[in-house]
Amino acid sequence: MKKIIIAIDGHSSCGKSTMAKQLAKEIGYVYVDTGAMYRAVTLYAMRNGMYPDAGIQEEALKAAIDAGKILITFRFNAETGRPDTYLNGEKVEDEIRQMEVSNRVSPIAALPFVRALLTEQQQAMGKEKGIVMDGRDIGTAVFPQAEMKVFVTASAKVRAERRYKELLEKAKTQEELAALNFDEVLKNVEERDYIDSHREVAPLRQAEDALVLDNSNMTREEQSAWLLEKYKEIVAE
Ligand code: C5P
Repeated sequence: MKKIIIAIDGHSSCGKSTMAKQLAKEIGYVYVDTGAMYRAVTLYAMRNGMYPDAGIQEEALKAAIDAGKILITFRFNAETGRPDTYLNGEKVEDEIRQMEVSNRVSPIAALPFVRALLTEQQQAMGKEKGIVMDGRDIGTAVFPQAEMKVFVTASAKVRAERRYKELLEKAKTQEELAALNFDEVLKNVEERDYIDSHREVAPLRQAEDALVLDNSNMTREEQSAWLLEKYKEIVAE
C-alpha cells in the first residue's frame, strides 16, 4: 500500500496527539509529536537561565542553537507504547508536560530561528513518508504537500477540562495536586491559542485542503474510527 504523510494540526489540548498516536499504531506508521520538540527547546532555555520572568534571552538561545547544543530525539518506550522525548540524551517526557513549560512554550515557538531549526528536523523525519505528525503548522508549513491533513478543534472549555483531568491523573504528590487550578489551565489554553494563531511565522491556521474535526462531543473511540476511515479513503484513491 502507498505510504503517505499525515498532518494533524489544531488547537492546544484537543486530543491531537492521542488520536495521532493511535492512528500511527494501527497503520504501522512513525508518530512524531512536534509540540514535544518546542517544549524541549523551552525546557532547555529555562534550565540554562535563558528564560527568566523578564522574557526570553533570544541571542543566547540562538547562539546555543547555532552551536548545535540542543539535540532533540525520540525513543520508543515499550512500556507505554509511545515515543519518549529526549533532550541531549536525557529523558524529559514528564518535565516538558508540566505547567511551567506549557506557560512558556508559545513565545519560544514564535521565534523564527526556533521554527527554522525544528521545521528542518521535522521535514527530515518525513522524508520516507509513512509518518503521522501532529502540531500547529504541519499541513501548512512543514508538509504543505501532505496527502492527508486534519484540523482538529473543540471549544476552549472542553479542551481545558480534558487537560485539567489529565494533569490531575498525572500529579504524583499532594503538593502537585494542590497546585493545579482549572482557571489557570483554561487561561493557558486560551493564551496559547492566541499566540499560536497570531505569530508571524507559520501561525496556527486551517489548511484549505484539511479535513476538519470538531471533537467537542466525540469519544476517543469515535475520533479514532473517524480518522482511520479517512485514512483508508485517501490511500484507496
Ligand atoms: O502540542 P503541544 O500543546 O504540546 O504544543 C506546545 C506548543 O508548541 C504549542 O502551544 C505551540 O505554541 C507550539 N507548537 C508550534 N508548532 C507546532 C507544534 C507546537 O508552534 N508544530
